[in-house]
Amino acid sequence: MPQLKFCKTCPICGRKSLIPIHCLGKSMTCGHCHGDFRATDTTGSSNHESELMDRVESLLASSGDQLRLSL
Ligand SMILES: [Zn+2]
Repeated sequence: MPQLKFCKTCPICGRKSLIPIHCLGKSMTCGHCHGDFRATDTTGSSNHESELMDRVESLLASSGDQLRLSL
């Protein structure tokens, strides 16, 4: 079973770190700057995901139109 990870931007150095999902909400040390921060998912994943899907669907729809025009 693959280990689930989520992406968190370090509040100290601004670089992204992959954090194992079981460390969510725990205190982490950044692998880049060794700063301490809390591993919270601030993006609001469920809302973000449906938003993303809407964007993907509209992108697919518009690229479909372009494809039809170019043919
Ligand atoms: Zn950092």
